[in-house]
Amino acid sequence: MLEIPCPWCGLRNENEFICGGEAQRKRPADPDRETDEAWADYLYNNANPKGVVTEWWWHVSGCTLWFKIDRNTLTHEITPIEELPE
Ligand SMILES: [Zn+2]
Repeated sequence: MLEIPCPWCGLRNENEFICGGEAQRKRPADPDRETDEAWADYLYNNANPKGVVTEWWWHVSGCTLWFKIDRNTLTHEITPIEELPE
């Protein structure tokens, strides 16, 4: 079980969170102009690289805020990101 460091609530059990996926993915500016395949690729496919990945996490059972962390996909080592969402 992972312990996720929420910037507002501190270290909490991962079952309080939902992972929002890789933070580097950019939402298409005009989704209506995307093909169904491109839109499905944006919604459901992650690069899932080995190593450190910046991810969005939602503290759904806590403060309900979104934030980013760096997580190593091989070791699950988590590094908080000091930058708070706008
Ligand atoms: Zn929180």
